[in-house]
Amino acid sequence: MAANPRLEINVGKIAGNTAQVVQRAGANGVNIVGVTKVCCGAPEVARAVKQGGAAMLGDSRLENIARMKEAGIPGPYMLIRIPMQSAAAETVRLADYCLLSDVVTGRILGAEARRQGKTMHVVIMVDVGDLREGFWPNQIPGAVTELAAVEGLAIAGLGVNLTCYGAISPDENNLGLLISLAEEIRKNNKLELPIVSGGNSSSLGMLWEGKLPGGISQLRIGEGIMLGCETLERAPLPGLHTDVFTAVAEIVEVREKPSLPIGRIAQDVFGNVPVFEDRGIHQRAILALGRQDVIFDGLQPLDAGVEILGGSSDHLLVEISGRKAAVGEELRFRPDYGAVLTLNTSPYVQKVYFS
Ligand SMILES: *Cc1c(COP(=O)(O)O)cnc(C)c1O
Repeated sequence: MAANPRLEINVGKIAGNTAQVVQRAGANGVNIVGVTKVCCGAPEVARAVKQGGAAMLGDSRLENIARMKEAGIPGPYMLIRIPMQSAAAETVRLADYCLLSDVVTGRILGAEARRQGKTMHVVIMVDVGDLREGFWPNQIPGAVTELAAVEGLAIAGLGVNLTCYGAISPDENNLGLLISLAEEIRKNNKLELPIVSGGNSSSLGMLWEGKLPGGISQLRIGEGIMLGCETLERAPLPGLHTDVFTAVAEIVEVREKPSLPIGRIAQDVFGNVPVFEDRGIHQRAILALGRQDVIFDGLQPLDAGVEILGGSSDHLLVEISGRKAAVGEELRFRPDYGAVLTLNTSPYVQKVYFS
């Protein structure tokens, strides 16, 4: 297969980022679940995350967990997407822990765990305002009582997810609510609840500033260790590498062309009516990279004089100013989270792991 397009992944930097986050978290009594979903559970990446000291590996897809286990990467593994009832058998077979927000699904997992002679450890999710997964806080005591009665299940803790759907920031109020619910359950239900899972990379700013409330014992971190930033403002975290991923694509045409298309403008291939800026005649290049490979709004050109104009399923158009460009030349881009996710997911993009 051709070498381009490709995604270069510096796994040494992923291990280094993980080690930094693990160390900061450890100083605050917090364990790290290293989340591998943005790399589709690539074993090379998972190995780096383990090497960096993550206590557990987390992924949203059972296929990715299977891929890591087949490669011999030691767990424990957490399924971080609340499980499908139809995938209960695979969930119990592949995951040691899962997040949970439904009592019936919990009973199905328990039955499956008994059938397989295992215990399924669950972290019960509380919705503290982001409006994605989770029981409403006042439903938690009832749900815990019902789930505690299910043989085959072990309630390992409570958790929240923030800054995903509602873009709600973690703070002392919503994390405080999680911590006080955990304390109430420990007292009333005689459960240990070792895990109080305080969210994802949006909590890293609080961790770095020493403001993460005591009582949080776990964070589930993907973007922070992969892209080196927190996710409220996408601010780089001091000491972390923000240049783990580089996208490379190859030029297949270079030509002087007008910047305004000629003729009547209708819908483009995706049903949008495009708007163009007249820059006169300019040097344009076509790269063999398209929407089947990447969300290209998330690409930052690394080469001087390159600006992204737009593209279609298989072509990315760029303006190259102030220098000559040639067919066959490679251009490099720094991808954001959405671009990394799509580049990793596209089967057309070669992944090159190095350190
Ligand atoms: C994706 C995800 C994470 C990790 O989020 P990052 O922002 O990448 O750190 C944690 N928990 C859940 C439930 C997720 O879906």
